[in-house]
Amino acid sequence: MNKRINIAGVHFDPVRYDDVLMAVEVFVHSERQHMIVTPNPEMVVNALGHPKFKSLLNAASLSIPDGIGILWAAYYLSQSRSKSRFAEFFRVLASLFKVLIKSKAIYSILPQRVTGSDLLLKIVERSQQTRWRIFLLGAAPGVAEAAVNRLLKRYPRAIFAGSFAGTPAHSHEDELVQRINITQPDILFVAYGSPAQEEWVARNLEKLTTVKVAIGVGGAIDFAAGRAKRAPLFMQRFGLEWLWRLCRQPSRWGRIWTATVVFVRKIVSH
Ligand code: UDP
Repeated sequence: MNKRINIAGVHFDPVRYDDVLMAVEVFVHSERQHMIVTPNPEMVVNALGHPKFKSLLNAASLSIPDGIGILWAAYYLSQSRSKSRFAEFFRVLASLFKVLIKSKAIYSILPQRVTGSDLLLKIVERSQQTRWRIFLLGAAPGVAEAAVNRLLKRYPRAIFAGSFAGTPAHSHEDELVQRINITQPDILFVAYGSPAQEEWVARNLEKLTTVKVAIGVGGAIDFAAGRAKRAPLFMQRFGLEWLWRLCRQPSRWGRIWTATVVFVRKIVSH
């Protein structure tokens, strides 16, 4: 695999979906267990203030860039800085404009935005040939089951070992681990939001006897169940998924502010 890219101390692998699917195939057949993380700009900001969380992300076998902001940061940081603050300000604006016009430059360091939500679909699709057993953990009660039903309509030969909402609370861990172990999955998706999902995986992966790959996927189970609607493709293409989420869920404005304005400021001043 190519050299990891460092963004404010968080490491990313320069991978496309196909590379991730190939890695999953290798991981499923390997002796040891693997965590895949999907850091987005909000998680990078969080990691900056929480060294433990940063180490946890960096210990993952694979770290995929979930968000165009991550691709922008990789590109911006790869360029040398201007000495004058004024010139640097315009360099920042120009690089952000390149995101909007989908300039090839933005994809020169990290080649593709690899989202947890699309990765879930692609792994389920691929599992039809590979026979991977998949478990969906998290989201609100009933949502993971709805996601399984919906996914099976689209990918009828996929094998779902199980699904369960549960909670990320420490007190429920043993029960959840037992529940998952009985179903013998190879791949576990965990949707408890970040950092709860990454911390849950880090604490429990060893106890999950058959799981070879565990992936924290945020809102992906909600999307797969059709409970939340993804941004239209043109918005995703122009790096405006955050704007879509802001319109649909205005209460997220604080999180979106962190993922956009705070993130850009932190990267520029890093
Ligand atoms: N969630 C959960 N239990 C919790 C906290 C969160 O099941 O205690 C789920 C929530 O229902 C959602 C997911 O975790 O399905 C996180 O979604 P969010 O939109 O925050 O993730 P993002 O995609 O923004 O990372």
